[in-house]
Amino acid sequence: MSLSIDLHAHSNISDGLLAPSALVEHAFNHNIKLLALTDHDDTSGLAIAEIETARLGMQLIKGVEISVTWKKRTIHIVGLKINPEYPPLKEGLAAIRAGRHVRAIGMAAGLDKVGIMGSLEGAYEYAQEGIISRTHFARFLVNTGVAKDNKAVFKNYLVKGKPGFFEHQWASLEEAVSWIVGSGGVAVIAHPGRYDLGRTNMLLLLEEFRAVGGDAIEVVTGSHTADQYLEFAKYAQLFGLKSSQGSDYHGKGISFMEMGRLPALPSNCVPVWQDWPEAEFAKSPFAQNQIPEKLLLETVSD
Ligand code: AMP
Ligand code: MN
Ligand code: MN
Ligand code: MN
Repeated sequence: MSLSIDLHAHSNISDGLLAPSALVEHAFNHNIKLLALTDHDDTSGLAIAEIETARLGMQLIKGVEISVTWKKRTIHIVGLKINPEYPPLKEGLAAIRAGRHVRAIGMAAGLDKVGIMGSLEGAYEYAQEGIISRTHFARFLVNTGVAKDNKAVFKNYLVKGKPGFFEHQWASLEEAVSWIVGSGGVAVIAHPGRYDLGRTNMLLLLEEFRAVGGDAIEVVTGSHTADQYLEFAKYAQLFGLKSSQGSDYHGKGISFMEMGRLPALPSNCVPVWQDWPEAEFAKSPFAQNQIPEKLLLETVSD
């Protein structure tokens, strides 16, 4: 049953393809019972998602994925069970969205320099009323034939050292966690395996995250390998952090994973939803479908 829990997904309020109500229906059709909508730096899809989940008999966890700069790297912090009306959170996210616009102008200027014109307007064509992101630039660049697919466009145009990359300062780790926790939510480090931090910096990040009030890390996510499930289960255990799982679904063709396909958390993990009434349905011991601890011990060496 824990397979029916997905605590990380995007709608077109950020860089997903589906509108919030369509995303909820997609989750329903993939057997998800407990869904968190976690758009980047924007919570305006939650109201519609709440109506749609109620209609379909699902549970919604109100979420957000906040962009953070930590040691000059971009880190994503997911907030779960947030109150989107909490003023510091609301104002903090509004400031990040304003920063995204400034950054987009810088990205477009960089692309202009290599002869790719019109990308600011082009990217905004794909953005709804929510945020502007690199994914929207990627769609413009692929659809105008500059690159062949999403993967190629990021690699050649949108990452550090490439023409469409523009250095940007996001929120601090402490700010993001305090907005989430202050609003009554739980702060979760998103896809820790994607940051390429190395062990020393990962330990520093987890230490600092916990010190400022962070509570969980994503162990099972669409962008982790099976080895990384076990690796981050160990980190969670080491730091006394809870574990989360989520597909990070963005839409057909641009996601690491479809919904409803995640394996269960390794058995040494404490699920972040452990005490949530919304996850009551997943509590039966027969509902667990976890990776046996034996396998975990055999696979992970320290
Ligand atoms: P932004 O927050 O504007 O920097 O955009 C980040 C988003 O771009 C992520 O949330 C992903 O959805 C997407 N993204 C980042 N890196 C890649 C990549 N290498 N390939 C495909 N999509 C990516
Ligand atoms: Mn994204
Ligand atoms: Mn992310
Ligand atoms: Mn995400």
